[in-house]
Amino acid sequence: MTVTIVQPRHMAGFACLGPDCPDTCCKDWAVDVDPPTARLWRRHPDPVWRARFEAGLRRVRDGKGEARALVAMRADGSCPFHGEDRLCTIQKELGASAMPWICRVFPRGEEREGDLLARTGSLACVAVARAAIGEADALDETVEGSIGPTLLGFGAPDAGERFALRERLAVRRTVFAILRRSGWSWPARLVLFALFVEELGRLELHRDRASLLALLDRFAAVLRLAEPEGVADALAPARARAPLLLVPVLRALLEATRVPVPGKVAWGAFVAAALDRLGIREAAPEEAAERLLALASERLEPLVAAMPHLFPNLAAALAHQLRFPGERPNDVLDRFAALVVAFATWRLLFVARLAAGVADPREAAAEVAWRLGRHLLHSRALVERGIEGLARAGARAPAALVALAV
Ligand code: SF4
Repeated sequence: MTVTIVQPRHMAGFACLGPDCPDTCCKDWAVDVDPPTARLWRRHPDPVWRARFEAGLRRVRDGKGEARALVAMRADGSCPFHGEDRLCTIQKELGASAMPWICRVFPRGEEREGDLLARTGSLACVAVARAAIGEADALDETVEGSIGPTLLGFGAPDAGERFALRERLAVRRTVFAILRRSGWSWPARLVLFALFVEELGRLELHRDRASLLALLDRFAAVLRLAEPEGVADALAPARARAPLLLVPVLRALLEATRVPVPGKVAWGAFVAAALDRLGIREAAPEEAAERLLALASERLEPLVAAMPHLFPNLAAALAHQLRFPGERPNDVLDRFAALVVAFATWRLLFVARLAAGVADPREAAAEVAWRLGRHLLHSRALVERGIEGLARAGARAPAALVALAV
C-alpha cells in the first residue's frame, strides 16, 4: 500500500540540532520505555549494555496502578544515556532502533488511518519552534504519496460523531488558510476563525456528514473575497475587554511560577525571570495586564510588520500542538479556547522578554514558543486554569475569546 504523508514543510526536512541545540529534549521529561524496547534492553546480548540498560530503567506504577517503565533520569534531570558530546549514546552505538519509541519519534506526532499518515511537529522542539518563527512557509502543507494535494474528495467515511483523519486534515487546512490569508488584517482573520469554530462545533456528523464539506466550501469561498469592511469597529467592544480577559491568563501563568509541575522547575523559573524583569509579579494582575497590553502594541507592532508570518505561524503551530480540531465537533470549542490561551500566554511572555531587552527578537520568540510547547506537553493545567477563569468572566465563546489574540 502506498502511504500518503501529509505534513508541514518544516517537518519534511526536519533535522535535530544535536549538540548545537541550546537545550536538550531529553532533559526533565518522564521518558517512557515502551514494552518492546524494555524487552530488547532486558535481553540485550552485550552484558555491558544490558547492565547499563538495567541501571537506566525505573519501574513505577501510574495513577491507575498500571506498571510503567521509565528512563531513570539523573538527579539534574538529564538522561543517563546522554554522552558528554551531548549526543545519545544508544543511537550512536546501537542505532535508533534500540532507543525508546518516544525518543525515535520526537518531535513528530503521527496519526495513521488506512493509507494516510498525518504528521505534525511539536513546538516543544527548539528546531521546530525556530522554523515556525523564522521561516514564512514552514507551516505550508506538503503531501507525498498517491492521493495528491486535495483531501477534500473524502468519501464521507463512516466515523459516527468522530472526525475521520482526512476530515481533521481538511478542517486544519481551512484554519491555516484563514490564519494566513494575506491581504486581510490579523483581527479579520481571527474573527473568521472564531465564526468557523462556532459553526464547526455545531455540526452533527452522525446525522449529516455532507454538512462538513459544505461548511469548508463556504469558508473557502469567503476567503476568496476582500476583507469585509468595519471589522476594527466591530471589534472595539471586545478589545476594550482585553485587559479584563488577560487577567485569568496572567493568574494561571503566575500560578505556574508558584506551583511548578513536579520535577519540571525550568518553566516556572523561566516565567518568573521574564515577568520579574518588569515587576509584573509584584503588581496587581489588573494593572499588570494593562501594562503588558500597552507594551504589546508598542513592541509587537513593528515586529509583526517586519514578520507578517509570526502570528499566523505561531497560531498554526499551536493548532498542531493542541491537535486542533480534536476528535469530535464537541471538542472544537475546547481546542479553540486552549489555542487562544496558549497564544495569549506566548504573547505575554514574549512581550515581557522584549521589554527587558533581547539581542535577537526571533530567537527570543522561538525560545518562548519551545518552552511553552514543552510545558504544554508536561501539563495542561496552565490552559485549563486560564479557560476556567475566562469562563467565570463570561468569555467562553469564540467571539469573546478573540479579544485575547488580536
Ligand atoms: S529539542 Fe529538537 S533540536 Fe533540540 S535535541 Fe531535541 S529534537 Fe533535537
